[in-house]
Amino acid sequence: MPMTKSIAKYSMGVGDRFGLEGAAQLRAFQAAKDRGVAITPVWNKSNREHSLIGTRPEDVRAEAEAAVKSGQWRGDYFVDADHIGLATVDKFLAASDFFTIDVADSIGKPASDASMAKYVAEMQRFVGALRIPGVAEPVTVTTASLQEIAAKYLFAVEEAGRIYRHIVQAKGEGNFVTEVSFDEANTAQTPAELFFILAAAAREAIPVATVAPKFTGEFLKGIDYVGDSKRFAREFDEDLAVLAFAQKIFGLPAALKLSIHSGSDKFSLYPIIYRAIKKADAGLHLKTAGTTWLEEVIGLAAAGGEGLAFAKALYREALGRYDEMAKPYLTVIAIDRAALPTPTQVDAFSAQEFVETLEHNQACKRFNIHFRQMVHISFRLAAEKQPQYLALLKSNRSSIESHVTDNIFKRHIEPLFLGVGA
Ligand SMILES: [Zn+2]
Repeated sequence: MPMTKSIAKYSMGVGDRFGLEGAAQLRAFQAAKDRGVAITPVWNKSNREHSLIGTRPEDVRAEAEAAVKSGQWRGDYFVDADHIGLATVDKFLAASDFFTIDVADSIGKPASDASMAKYVAEMQRFVGALRIPGVAEPVTVTTASLQEIAAKYLFAVEEAGRIYRHIVQAKGEGNFVTEVSFDEANTAQTPAELFFILAAAAREAIPVATVAPKFTGEFLKGIDYVGDSKRFAREFDEDLAVLAFAQKIFGLPAALKLSIHSGSDKFSLYPIIYRAIKKADAGLHLKTAGTTWLEEVIGLAAAGGEGLAFAKALYREALGRYDEMAKPYLTVIAIDRAALPTPTQVDAFSAQEFVETLEHNQACKRFNIHFRQMVHISFRLAAEKQPQYLALLKSNRSSIESHVTDNIFKRHIEPLFLGVGA
């Protein structure tokens, strides 16, 4: 296994659509450090977000560096090329030192017959009842089940190997953190699948630092988990057990950990995950979506005046262009259009009413999960009016920054890494 840049036990990915909130985001990590928990910040932005807004990976690097400098952050930090493949990785090579290699699109594509046969032959040693410490029932492995897993995942892992080696050519071995992601697959991976995926990754000599499986249930953007949280808890425990076992057996990097592409705000899962990683003494990477953008809208609306007027006008336009806004996100949103307030209703909102409808406070009767998702996917409208939007962001700094910091610290870091409420 090649040397790899390591990432600390706990890390968290934050997104920032417009690149102004790096310092406010970093303050949440500083607050965690003050409470005795080290969490490494990772600024992530996917190719999709870059192209929808017109930013470049260099902008994220510059934002991160400026935040680290102004916040006098002495710890590690990373810039994540989020969800890249061979077709998109090149423009991230210079600016990124964390690469989320996304091979979900390659799942189910066939590897060569020779490659399949070789893999299945090498995995014969696991045929029978495979006992994974921490997994209650032994996993029954047969040649047929190995062939099935290989047919589904072997080509995808080989593709991850090709992408990894392409990055190595540009950046040199050991100079970046490697994540392999399957979270955008159609079905959740079973513990056995995860085990044999990791086996395949080790054969490709990919020094996987973090792996992002698809978990059971739905991880929609900016709203809570939708699914059976008891089943999630069981699967999550099993995944942790599989990782610890596979790490030893296949000689993967010692710091190998799970990455959860959360889409943000998975409040009902955070206590479950906190207890699981404590019990297993496991690390974790939590990737969040760009809900910092929503905190900007909340900060503007809370300020009233022009900020509130901008937020209302944006909502009106977003509804008028619904299909266009929703299109890139159809698989990760669940908006009931009938449950959305009309633009005329929203125009009559006070600042407080607007904020309460948007802010993710499940105890608030006014909170509207559909309204929240609608605003979340409408950031491109602000991108179209960038000079006006950025001027508003700049003139409402303090209101916005406190929302950005509190959102990351109180809603995510406290329950997930500090165990508040667990
Ligand atoms: Zn993802």
